[in-house]
Amino acid sequence: EKVLFNDKMIDRENASFSFDDRSMYFGDGVYEVIRVYSGHPYKLEMHLQRLQRSADELDIPYSIKEKQSLKKSVMELIDTNNLNGDGYVYLQLSRGATARDHLYERHIEPFIFAFTKEMETPLNQQEQGIAVYLTEDIRWLRCDIKTVNLLGNVLAKRQAADHDCSEAIQHRGDTVTEGSSSNLFIVKDGQLKTHPADNLILNGITRQVVIDLAEKQGLSVSLTAFTTEEMLEADEAFITSTINEITPIIEWRGTKHGMMKIGPITKQLQSELQADIERTRSG
Ligand code: PLP
Repeated sequence: EKVLFNDKMIDRENASFSFDDRSMYFGDGVYEVIRVYSGHPYKLEMHLQRLQRSADELDIPYSIKEKQSLKKSVMELIDTNNLNGDGYVYLQLSRGATARDHLYERHIEPFIFAFTKEMETPLNQQEQGIAVYLTEDIRWLRCDIKTVNLLGNVLAKRQAADHDCSEAIQHRGDTVTEGSSSNLFIVKDGQLKTHPADNLILNGITRQVVIDLAEKQGLSVSLTAFTTEEMLEADEAFITSTINEITPIIEWRGTKHGMMKIGPITKQLQSELQADIERTRSG
């Protein structure tokens, strides 16, 4: 199995990186997870654009345009590793390695690496729905940047698992933001609602795809924040992410409790998303 290591493709067992890498000391790096369906990457351009934006926002001097090869390298990695089925590519860009110091210099050479992994679509969860755990959002105020500094997210995920829930849904006070590794949509009276893409959430690629598919179906999507009360009174709710696609919520635990049924709009969007994925599968 090969991994992408800067501009090279090397064996995974030979891939070791610097003791002084800043992503290790400070979480000073950004990343992307890109789904692969039947050997084809899904929405690769959108992921690379978001990676560029994350790097720009953190003042990491990396230009995907200059390094035209990144897209090619990702495709090559999928091929080299014979990922013909379903899986994902994990891509990380670190500010680079230098003696530990909070102050970063702009001349440090960024370090990029990627690996592939096979995975199956979590169909069970998509068909049967999941329980989620409501918890206070304790993250920083730049959740729009996809950084590897994910402590708030990982603590929330552990809390959810400790309460037999598959995902944590975070809220700042009364306002619901997003999952620990997913975005959240609710449906009320036929209308979809999701948190606006501001500094409090990651603007998920799946979120953007789902908004687009919904609008093409003539559904109305309101990009406005909502409260935990509103969420519990919704007709339907689901999370979206690269890994989970569209997964319905059937139970709320944590700060508040409630039950919910999988609804027709969730199912409609699930089938629209699958149709879009099918187009990627067939190349
Ligand atoms: N929100 C957070 C905090 C995430 O970590 C993720 C993905 O990992 C998402 C949302 C969903 O984003 P995407 O659909 O691009 O996978």
